[in-house]
Amino acid sequence: MQSSLLNQSSTQTPTLLTQEVCPNCGHQGLLPFYEVRNVPVHSCLMLPTQQEALDFPCGDVVLGFCEKCGFITNVAFDDKWSAYAPNYEDQQSFSPTFNKFALDLAHRLIEKYDLRNKDIVEIGCSKGDFLLLLCELGNNRGVGIDPSAVQGRVHSEAAKRVTFIEDYYSEKYADHVGDFICCRHTLEHIQPTAEFVSIVRRSISDRLNTVVFFEIPDTIRVLQELAFEDIYYEHCSYFTPGSLARLFRSCGFEVIDLYRAYGEQYLLIEAKPVEQPSDKKIHPLEESLEALTEDVNYFTTHISHKLQRWKQNLEQWHKEGQKVVVWGSGSKCVAFLTTLDTIDYIQYVVDINPHRHGKFIPGVGKEIMPPEFLKEYQPDQVIVMNSIYCDEIGQMLDEMGVTTNLLVC
Ligand SMILES: [Zn+2]
Repeated sequence: MQSSLLNQSSTQTPTLLTQEVCPNCGHQGLLPFYEVRNVPVHSCLMLPTQQEALDFPCGDVVLGFCEKCGFITNVAFDDKWSAYAPNYEDQQSFSPTFNKFALDLAHRLIEKYDLRNKDIVEIGCSKGDFLLLLCELGNNRGVGIDPSAVQGRVHSEAAKRVTFIEDYYSEKYADHVGDFICCRHTLEHIQPTAEFVSIVRRSISDRLNTVVFFEIPDTIRVLQELAFEDIYYEHCSYFTPGSLARLFRSCGFEVIDLYRAYGEQYLLIEAKPVEQPSDKKIHPLEESLEALTEDVNYFTTHISHKLQRWKQNLEQWHKEGQKVVVWGSGSKCVAFLTTLDTIDYIQYVVDINPHRHGKFIPGVGKEIMPPEFLKEYQPDQVIVMNSIYCDEIGQMLDEMGVTTNLLVC
């Protein structure tokens, strides 16, 4: 695996990919600015053996920037890999930090849109945690549509009012559309973004009281913090407040609200369908194209230094015989290890999700261990993949009597 910059120097202009069309706005020509070659095409599919994990198919990430709408997409993405199955383990509800966020969000949405005894559709509901929560707290009825949906994984009083459909969302599910549609951490996996949001809009048709809520990672943070661990194959679409709001308007919605949450990592949009969206109603969070172009340039100029620094640290610890583990076995871990190409300098990966224990990470081939493993292992360095979990992890390590150096990637 090899990462490189297509624009090594800010004075050098990268060659515009003239054949590439922006899936968000239809503009022809995208500017490439970052690439990582030969990375696993999935990072949340868990493999039963190390060999299968190491043999996992790989693809390239080549980020292209649309100068017209600000959208960023992986131009090397092949959607033949976007099949999700029940062994896709992206459930995050094993973390108290994540659960508190989901609970607060559910309460807020219920209050704001009076979601009580209403009909809710969740597109890309995963195992159904959030949909069941909304239905439990507001006595709502729910339909969850996701190819990796598993009926009965989450125990809830509301389970009898919720139906799961193992499928991708399409207009054939228009009959289920009621009062609220939510879609969390799904749009970044879809390449034809305008086509998808248009399907959602058409499935609502003239039910103009239906509220739509989407949640995705915010790319402004990725660019400003050089968060290369958040750039991986599964995410083909990278949004900022501006490109997200423009997409929703162009597909027949009006933005009700736009904000960040979860340690500023996530971008959330609330929108309503309208007959004629107005270009005049710009939300204050929307950044200008000029500001976004500056952020892309900043990333291009500084990312190689950050990657180099991490590589040197890992090599040094390896030379000194230090025991280094990564905490968090999800996509960030896969991106972190494959981008740096230093997999062998890490001994183990730890995760709190019990469905992942004993399985192997695609492309990386490390076995996922439960946190208790560290009691015996006593690592010298623990690299935390998401800063938001630092307190939670620090506390668990203390309780287990593990004295180590905790670092954030
Ligand atoms: Zn565009």
